[in-house]
Amino acid sequence: MIKKTLLLLSLLPFLVQANDYEKVGVEVKAENLNENAYYIPGLSGSATEYEGFISNAGFVVTTEGVLVFDSLGTPSLANAMLEEIRKVTNKPIKLVIVSHYHADHIYGLQVFKEQGAQIWAPKGTWDYLNSETAPNLLNSRRTLLYPWVNSKTYLVEPDRIIDKDTKFSLGNHQFLLTYFGKVHSDGDMSLLSLNDQTLYSGDLIFEGRIPFVGDADVFRWIKALDRVRKTEMEYFVPGHGTASDQPQETMGLTYRYLNFLVDQLTLAVDEMIQFDTAYEAIDWSEFEDEPAFEAANRKNAYAVYLYLESVFD
Ligand SMILES: [Zn+2]
Repeated sequence: MIKKTLLLLSLLPFLVQANDYEKVGVEVKAENLNENAYYIPGLSGSATEYEGFISNAGFVVTTEGVLVFDSLGTPSLANAMLEEIRKVTNKPIKLVIVSHYHADHIYGLQVFKEQGAQIWAPKGTWDYLNSETAPNLLNSRRTLLYPWVNSKTYLVEPDRIIDKDTKFSLGNHQFLLTYFGKVHSDGDMSLLSLNDQTLYSGDLIFEGRIPFVGDADVFRWIKALDRVRKTEMEYFVPGHGTASDQPQETMGLTYRYLNFLVDQLTLAVDEMIQFDTAYEAIDWSEFEDEPAFEAANRKNAYAVYLYLESVFD
C-alpha cells in the first residue's frame, strides 16, 4: 500500500503538468540563433488572435541551467515552450527575465515558476501589479482567450526587481540587463547574452508591424532606442516580429515610426491644430502598408498627441 502511494506521489508532478494546461493549436517552435541562444517566434497579430501567441520569447542554455526571456501570453503557450526547451536540454529552468509586465509576455510565468525558476523583472512591475488594469485585463482574457487563459491562470510576482544596468552570470554564461525605466510600459529592460552576442530587446522593438504605443513615454522610448542601436551584437530578437542577424535593419521600423509620430504631431501641437484635422493632414504612406496599421496607427497617434500636449503645457 505504502509502495503504491509512493508511486502515485512520485507520478503526481507529471500528472499535474499534463492536466494543467490546455493544449495549443498553434505551432510553438524554438529556433536556434547562435550557440546556446534560442527564440520562440510569435505570430503577427493583435492581443487575442492566434490563441494569444503574438509575442516572442527566448531562452539560453548555460552549464548550470536554462535562462528564459519572457514567458508568452498564456500558460498553455509557456508549457509548449517548455516542451521545446526539453527537446534541447534537461537542465533546470533557473531564471526568467521579464522584459516588462504586459499580458502577452507574462501570462506564461506560472509554468516556469512551478519549475522552480526565479523571476526577475524591471522596476515599475509593481505599479502594474498594483493597478486595476492587471486584474481587470486578466479577467477579460479569461473569456477572450479561454480555455488557454482560465480561472487557474494567475499573475506571478517577481522575486527580484532590477532598477539599474546589471551584469550577472549563470554557469559559464555572462549576461547584461539594461534597465530603461518607463519607456514602452511601466518599466522595460533588455537582455544581452554576452557569450552569444544576442540581444533580446522586449517591446522596445516591434518588427514587421506597427508598434503598440499605449501610454508609453515616447521621448524616453526614442532615447532608449538610440542606446539599443549602439549596442554591439550579432543577433537581435525583438519583442514582436522576426529575429535577425541584421539588427539595425530590424530596428528600423520602430525607430522611424516613433520619430515620425513625434515630428509630425509636435508641429500640430505647436500650432494648436485639433487632433482630427492634424491626423487627416499627415501623409502616412510610408507606414500604411505595415501590418497592424489600421488597428494601431490612429490610437498611437492620438496617444502621442496627448503626450506631447502634456509635456508642452
Ligand atoms: Zn508590451
